[in-house]
Amino acid sequence: MHLHVQKQWIITPANLPSIIRRCPKCGIKTEFKNSKKFRVNANGRLIDVWLIYRCSKCETSWNMTVWERAEAGSLDEEEYQGFLSNDPALAEKYGNDRTLFAGNKAETSAERPEYSIEERDTPFSCGLEYHMEVHVKIPAGFDLRVDALLVRQLGVSRNKIKTWCEKGLVFNQGNLLSPKTRVKDGMILQLKKEVLTCQTGDSIIQVK
Ligand SMILES: [Zn+2]
Repeated sequence: MHLHVQKQWIITPANLPSIIRRCPKCGIKTEFKNSKKFRVNANGRLIDVWLIYRCSKCETSWNMTVWERAEAGSLDEEEYQGFLSNDPALAEKYGNDRTLFAGNKAETSAERPEYSIEERDTPFSCGLEYHMEVHVKIPAGFDLRVDALLVRQLGVSRNKIKTWCEKGLVFNQGNLLSPKTRVKDGMILQLKKEVLTCQTGDSIIQVK
């Protein structure tokens, strides 16, 4: 009998989204790229942090607000040092955060940002009732739907994922999932064994 182990999928965005906005110098809408640099302004006990974007044509900068008038004590100390030293991991974290883009009324360029997925085995075994269990690692704020992730990783159609969800075969740590759910860091995706026999007329799921 084939014993399944819990897998891990590590999702890494291939490029950081650009912001599309009107450049005051170019006079037209241009692409502003993430410079991976932060600007920090400490005014008494209040701290502002911006992530700097630059026009790809003329280098004019636009600052995206990360923290606005935050109390000095309320920021994570390690993260604060990271802002001061332009930690690239923080530029990725905040440069993929769609909540932050929305708060800044920033329009992002890539409708469907590219990403790569590395699959690893974990030392944990998969629950008996599951065909597959996957622990997902994804940067905070990276926008990806559960159905899109499963379509890509399992090579099945979006319709099939929808059927599985409707039949109650897809879970996150024991809670039923909708195909439209956003993938979150630390999620444990679980597919019931019945997915193997749940036919919708298209291909059968690959067993790894
Ligand atoms: Zn410009």
